[in-house]
Amino acid sequence: MFGLKADWSLEVTQRYFTLESYTGADARWCPGCGDHAVLTAVQRICRDEQLPPERTVAVSGIGCASRFPHYMATYGFHGLHGRALPLACGIKARRPDLHVWVATGDGDCFSIGAGHWIHAVRYNMDITVMVFDNNIYGLTKKQTSPTSPAGLKTNTHPLGNPLPPQNPLSVTLAISNVSFVAQTIDWHPMHLHATLHAAFKHRGLSFVRILQRCPAMNDHAFDELQRNPEKLSLLTHPQGIGIDGSAADRFPNQQVHDPSNLAAARSMAEAGIPIGLLFQDETRPCYDHLTSAGIGTSIDAKLRALDGALDRFAV
Ligand code: SF4
Repeated sequence: MFGLKADWSLEVTQRYFTLESYTGADARWCPGCGDHAVLTAVQRICRDEQLPPERTVAVSGIGCASRFPHYMATYGFHGLHGRALPLACGIKARRPDLHVWVATGDGDCFSIGAGHWIHAVRYNMDITVMVFDNNIYGLTKKQTSPTSPAGLKTNTHPLGNPLPPQNPLSVTLAISNVSFVAQTIDWHPMHLHATLHAAFKHRGLSFVRILQRCPAMNDHAFDELQRNPEKLSLLTHPQGIGIDGSAADRFPNQQVHDPSNLAAARSMAEAGIPIGLLFQDETRPCYDHLTSAGIGTSIDAKLRALDGALDRFAV
């Protein structure tokens, strides 16, 4: 009409994802639980990166943190105790196009799941692993976990934990083919977000230990660190995790650390409480590059290959 032409080139199928696009069930973690901050950070990263929810998967084992997939409006797999990492590796092996987030805890990952932890780090598949470390078994009501400090009174050690805690950073940094290790805290949203974002961008398995408050079962675990932030050592470097000036000012104790230096990272993990990127090497081999080979092969071609392989055993 009147010589006007409609513009049919408009891309009507283009989608834009908001935070609501990733918001699942109402989170039922306790008020004040650090898990809420991690969920918010991940949903923001998904929105910022415009990850299609149908191409995003949250995977977990058992524990409070393992309710994470229920609260994401993406695909999810709430697995068995200690089994988040093999599930995530299995998903990545055959669906390398999916963005895989793993939510696990100090009990889930460092105790019953310890064997899987070692091998998943070595396999270095392209997944983001978040360990919610509250130094306690929270869901099952206050049992000693591998990272509980010595002397902590729990329901399994009412007279106090007799053993020193495991150091998950040192262990992870000692695994062959490790490619990304970072540590952050749930009570500094900017550092938490920046760390998880860097972990998401990393090619390979990114291991992030999050010091996570559990006011219900291990209240005061991190009070000292909140009262005296100089006990934390913020790692700074152009290749590290950057936060802007005012946010960084919250950390009076800062230390330059080159994250390509594995030996320095191991020393750093043993001394004090480092916050930031300890180690990154994106040249390390990723096992999903092997397991995803041949994904596009037709069923007929697969059957022919199988027949050929079986024929070798014909007598
Ligand atoms: Fe969070 Fe602890 Fe409550 Fe679990 S028990 S939801 S970790 S505060």
